[in-house]
Amino acid sequence: MLRTGLLWLSEQPRIFRFIRRNGLARRFAARFVAGETVDSGVAALRELNAAGITASLDLLGEAVHTVAEARAARDTYLQTLDRVRAVGAAAHVSLKLTQMGLDIDETQCVQNVRAIVASAKAQDAFVRIDMEQSAYTERTLRLFKQHWHPEFGNAVGVVLQSYLRRTEQDAEQMIALGARVRLCKGAYQEPATVAFPDKHDVDANYVRCMERLLLKGNYPAIATHDARIIERAKAFARDKGIQSSRFEFQMLYGVRRDLQLALRRQGYNVRVYVPFGTQWYPYLMRRLAERPANVAFLVGNVLRESLRRS
Ligand SMILES: Cc1cc2nc3c(=O)[nH]c(=O)nc-3n(C[C@H](O)[C@H](O)[C@H](O)COP(=O)(O)OP(=O)(O)OC[C@H]3O[C@@H](n4cnc5c(N)ncnc54)[C@H](O)[C@@H]3O)c2cc1C
Repeated sequence: MLRTGLLWLSEQPRIFRFIRRNGLARRFAARFVAGETVDSGVAALRELNAAGITASLDLLGEAVHTVAEARAARDTYLQTLDRVRAVGAAAHVSLKLTQMGLDIDETQCVQNVRAIVASAKAQDAFVRIDMEQSAYTERTLRLFKQHWHPEFGNAVGVVLQSYLRRTEQDAEQMIALGARVRLCKGAYQEPATVAFPDKHDVDANYVRCMERLLLKGNYPAIATHDARIIERAKAFARDKGIQSSRFEFQMLYGVRRDLQLALRRQGYNVRVYVPFGTQWYPYLMRRLAERPANVAFLVGNVLRESLRRS
């Protein structure tokens, strides 16, 4: 119930306009979001790099309304890549196709992504195409297979979500293609016709797809904070003689930093997804939906703040 409510709230722009003015919500967001500017994203990246952890920078924002907004998002990505190069840091970027204009003009979206991947490739970086709601899965994978993967090969990769019933098949297709996959559980509200409603099934599907990707995939990214699944990945790789250089673990900025550092110390590649930008509200609400304790933390802070003021 709580998860459904929070995911519904994540899609209400009017509530965001109200929340954005609230200093407390902004401070809470700072736990999961590096800041509102490119420079704040790059600063977080440098801190992570100093601890031996790499990053993927994500400009927050989805479902833009005009071609001009999509172009502006593209330009911010190009600036971000330039900034990363200028400071001599190592980072990938992650982007969403709706932010690149998928719902407005598919051709323009293809061109926007092409410009970003071309720039990333020229500096040996990499672009991950995040996966959004299931209404976009087929189009995202089709565009990836038709346009960016043939043109740029391993400079670009996709995301698969283990809550979707179709994902095992998609993972096999991506393996056959030699494409780079980030595997996550999935963060959106989905109907039972397309997604497993039961968490046990989501987790079991995660493990099945993860093992196939570890065995046969191209440098898979195991994106989860689930310590049990991470242990399973480590044990599976050990048993099958898969070297730790052949895959990476990925986690979100501000989530399980202890685990991020521990894995790094154990010699695993770890990449942190670092979101930045003004459009942090839907992202923040999805993080709250994942963990009710985060809601309690936020409510506790609101109460403390009101008591202090009264
Ligand atoms: C690098 C990365 C990229 C991602 N990209 C996408 C994407 O493109 N599309 C998409 O749909 N989803 C994406 N996600 C989100 C993902 O789908 C899940 O919603 C999210 O990772 C939580 O699932 P989990 O695997 O950590 O497992 P869960 O079973 O949800 O959580 C396992 C444990 O992790 C900890 N934890 C999980 N979430 C939080 C949190 N928010 N705050 C504090 N602790 C937490 C808790 O201890 C929890 O018990 C991404 C996740 C990561 C790590």
